[in-house]
Amino acid sequence: MTDCVFCRIAAGEAPATKIYEDDTLCAFLDIRPIARGHTLVIPKRHATELEDLDADLGAQMFRAGHRLALAIRRSSLSADGANLVLNDGTAAFQTVPHVHLHVIPRNHGDKLRFAAGLLLRRPHEPMTTAEAIKGGIAALEAEDEGKSA
Ligand code: AMP
Ligand code: ZN
Repeated sequence: MTDCVFCRIAAGEAPATKIYEDDTLCAFLDIRPIARGHTLVIPKRHATELEDLDADLGAQMFRAGHRLALAIRRSSLSADGANLVLNDGTAAFQTVPHVHLHVIPRNHGDKLRFAAGLLLRRPHEPMTTAEAIKGGIAALEAEDEGKSA
Protein backbone atom coordinates (compact mmCIF):
# COMPACT_ATOMS: atom_id res chain seq x y z
CA MET A 1 0.00 0.00 0.00
CA THR A 2 1.29 3.49 -0.85
CA ASP A 3 2.12 5.84 2.01
CA CYS A 4 0.88 8.82 -0.04
CA VAL A 5 -2.41 9.95 1.50
CA PHE A 6 -3.64 11.59 -1.72
CA CYS A 7 -2.92 8.41 -3.73
CA ARG A 8 -4.95 6.52 -1.14
CA ILE A 9 -7.80 9.04 -1.42
CA ALA A 10 -7.70 8.75 -5.22
CA ALA A 11 -7.87 4.96 -4.92
CA GLY A 12 -10.78 5.14 -2.45
CA GLU A 13 -8.59 3.63 0.28
CA ALA A 14 -8.59 6.69 2.56
CA PRO A 15 -11.61 8.77 3.56
CA ALA A 16 -12.36 12.05 1.81
CA THR A 17 -15.41 14.09 0.90
CA LYS A 18 -15.18 13.79 -2.87
CA ILE A 19 -16.70 16.45 -5.09
CA TYR A 20 -15.69 15.20 -8.51
CA GLU A 21 -13.85 12.26 -10.01
CA ASP A 22 -12.96 10.94 -13.47
CA ASP A 23 -10.32 8.53 -14.81
CA THR A 24 -7.44 10.95 -14.33
CA LEU A 25 -8.47 13.48 -11.66
CA CYS A 26 -10.14 13.67 -8.30
CA ALA A 27 -11.41 16.68 -6.32
CA PHE A 28 -12.24 16.57 -2.62
CA LEU A 29 -12.75 18.94 0.29
CA ASP A 30 -9.65 20.07 2.14
CA ILE A 31 -9.70 18.52 5.61
CA ARG A 32 -8.56 21.85 7.14
CA PRO A 33 -10.31 24.42 4.96
CA ILE A 34 -9.32 28.07 4.87
CA ALA A 35 -12.87 28.89 3.72
CA ARG A 36 -16.07 26.88 3.32
CA GLY A 37 -15.83 24.91 0.08
CA HIS A 38 -12.00 24.86 0.00
CA THR A 39 -11.35 22.03 -2.46
CA LEU A 40 -8.24 20.24 -3.70
CA VAL A 41 -7.87 18.93 -7.25
CA ILE A 42 -5.30 16.19 -7.78
CA PRO A 43 -4.09 14.00 -10.61
CA LYS A 44 -4.78 10.37 -9.70
CA ARG A 45 -1.35 9.33 -10.97
CA HIS A 46 1.24 10.21 -8.34
CA ALA A 47 3.50 13.19 -8.99
CA THR A 48 5.29 14.73 -6.04
CA GLU A 49 5.99 18.17 -7.49
CA LEU A 50 5.59 20.03 -10.79
CA GLU A 51 9.00 18.58 -11.80
CA ASP A 52 7.36 15.14 -11.97
CA LEU A 53 3.98 16.20 -13.39
CA ASP A 54 3.05 15.46 -16.99
CA ALA A 55 2.23 18.84 -18.60
CA ASP A 56 -1.05 17.63 -20.13
CA LEU A 57 -2.14 16.30 -16.74
CA GLY A 58 -1.28 19.68 -15.24
CA ALA A 59 -3.46 21.37 -17.88
CA GLN A 60 -6.32 18.99 -17.08
CA MET A 61 -5.92 19.71 -13.38
CA PHE A 62 -6.15 23.46 -14.01
CA ARG A 63 -9.17 22.97 -16.28
CA ALA A 64 -10.92 21.08 -13.46
CA GLY A 65 -9.96 23.82 -10.98
CA HIS A 66 -11.32 26.42 -13.41
CA ARG A 67 -14.66 24.58 -13.65
CA LEU A 68 -14.82 24.15 -9.89
CA ALA A 69 -14.30 27.88 -9.40
CA LEU A 70 -17.19 28.55 -11.82
CA ALA A 71 -19.32 25.91 -10.08
CA ILE A 72 -18.67 27.40 -6.64
CA ARG A 73 -19.88 30.79 -7.92
CA ARG A 74 -23.10 29.13 -9.13
CA SER A 75 -23.55 27.04 -5.97
CA SER A 76 -25.48 28.00 -2.86
CA LEU A 77 -22.10 28.97 -1.36
CA SER A 78 -22.47 32.02 -3.67
CA ALA A 79 -18.77 32.75 -4.00
CA ASP A 80 -17.84 35.98 -5.79
CA GLY A 81 -14.44 34.59 -6.77
CA ALA A 82 -11.74 32.10 -5.80
CA ASN A 83 -8.06 31.76 -5.10
CA LEU A 84 -6.51 28.97 -7.20
CA VAL A 85 -3.20 28.15 -5.55
CA LEU A 86 -0.54 25.51 -6.10
CA ASN A 87 2.31 25.25 -3.61
CA ASP A 88 5.15 23.59 -5.52
CA GLY A 89 7.80 22.06 -3.31
CA THR A 90 8.67 22.36 0.36
CA ALA A 91 10.31 25.73 -0.41
CA ALA A 92 6.80 26.93 -1.27
CA PHE A 93 5.31 25.33 1.87
CA GLN A 94 3.94 22.28 0.06
CA THR A 95 3.10 19.92 2.93
CA VAL A 96 1.53 16.95 1.09
CA PRO A 97 4.00 15.51 -1.44
CA HIS A 98 1.42 14.84 -4.19
CA VAL A 99 0.67 17.72 -6.58
CA HIS A 100 -2.61 19.46 -5.75
CA LEU A 101 -4.42 22.62 -6.80
CA HIS A 102 -6.29 24.52 -4.08
CA VAL A 103 -9.60 26.14 -5.05
CA ILE A 104 -10.57 28.50 -2.23
CA PRO A 105 -13.91 30.33 -2.49
CA ARG A 106 -13.83 34.09 -1.86
CA ASN A 107 -16.43 36.76 -1.29
CA HIS A 108 -16.30 40.49 -1.49
CA GLY A 109 -15.43 41.86 1.94
CA ASP A 110 -14.30 38.50 3.39
CA LYS A 111 -10.82 39.71 4.39
CA LEU A 112 -11.30 39.18 8.14
CA ARG A 113 -13.15 35.87 7.72
CA PHE A 114 -10.40 34.69 5.35
CA ALA A 115 -7.67 35.71 7.83
CA ALA A 116 -9.50 33.85 10.62
CA GLY A 117 -9.87 30.82 8.32
CA LEU A 118 -6.11 30.82 7.70
CA LEU A 119 -5.54 30.61 11.45
CA LEU A 120 -8.36 28.27 12.48
CA ARG A 121 -8.62 25.88 9.49
CA ARG A 122 -11.88 24.39 10.83
CA PRO A 123 -14.10 22.10 8.74
CA HIS A 124 -17.56 23.43 7.78
CA GLU A 125 -20.21 20.68 7.55
CA PRO A 126 -18.46 18.66 4.83
CA MET A 127 -21.54 16.81 3.57
CA THR A 128 -23.73 19.88 3.01
CA THR A 129 -20.75 21.79 1.61
CA ALA A 130 -20.06 19.00 -0.90
CA GLU A 131 -23.74 18.87 -1.90
CA ALA A 132 -23.73 22.64 -2.42
CA ILE A 133 -20.73 22.45 -4.76
CA LYS A 134 -22.22 19.50 -6.64
CA GLY A 135 -25.33 21.67 -7.13
CA GLY A 136 -23.08 24.31 -8.66
CA ILE A 137 -21.53 21.73 -11.00
CA ALA A 138 -25.03 20.66 -12.09
CA ALA A 139 -25.96 24.32 -12.72
CA LEU A 140 -22.82 24.77 -14.82
CA GLU A 141 -23.58 21.65 -16.85
CA ALA A 142 -27.15 22.85 -17.45
CA GLU A 143 -25.74 26.18 -18.71
CA ASP A 144 -23.35 24.33 -21.04
CA GLU A 145 -26.23 22.24 -22.42
CA GLY A 146 -28.28 25.41 -22.94
CA LYS A 147 -25.41 26.98 -24.93
CA SER A 148 -24.98 23.93 -27.16
CA ALA A 149 -28.74 23.48 -27.81
P1 AMP B 1 -0.12 22.28 0.81
O1 AMP B 1 0.41 23.16 1.87
O2 AMP B 1 -0.35 23.03 -0.48
O3 AMP B 1 0.70 21.01 0.61
O4 AMP B 1 -1.56 21.85 1.29
C1 AMP B 1 -1.91 20.57 1.65
C2 AMP B 1 -3.38 20.62 1.99
O5 AMP B 1 -3.85 19.29 2.11
C3 AMP B 1 -3.67 21.32 3.31
O6 AMP B 1 -4.58 22.40 3.06
C4 AMP B 1 -4.27 20.23 4.18
O7 AMP B 1 -5.30 20.70 5.03
C5 AMP B 1 -4.79 19.25 3.15
N1 AMP B 1 -4.87 17.86 3.57
C6 AMP B 1 -3.92 17.14 4.20
N2 AMP B 1 -4.34 15.86 4.41
C7 AMP B 1 -5.60 15.80 3.90
C8 AMP B 1 -6.58 14.76 3.81
N3 AMP B 1 -6.35 13.53 4.30
N4 AMP B 1 -7.76 15.05 3.23
C9 AMP B 1 -8.00 16.29 2.75
N5 AMP B 1 -7.12 17.30 2.79
C10 AMP B 1 -5.93 17.07 3.36
ZN1 ZN C 1 0.42 10.27 -4.31
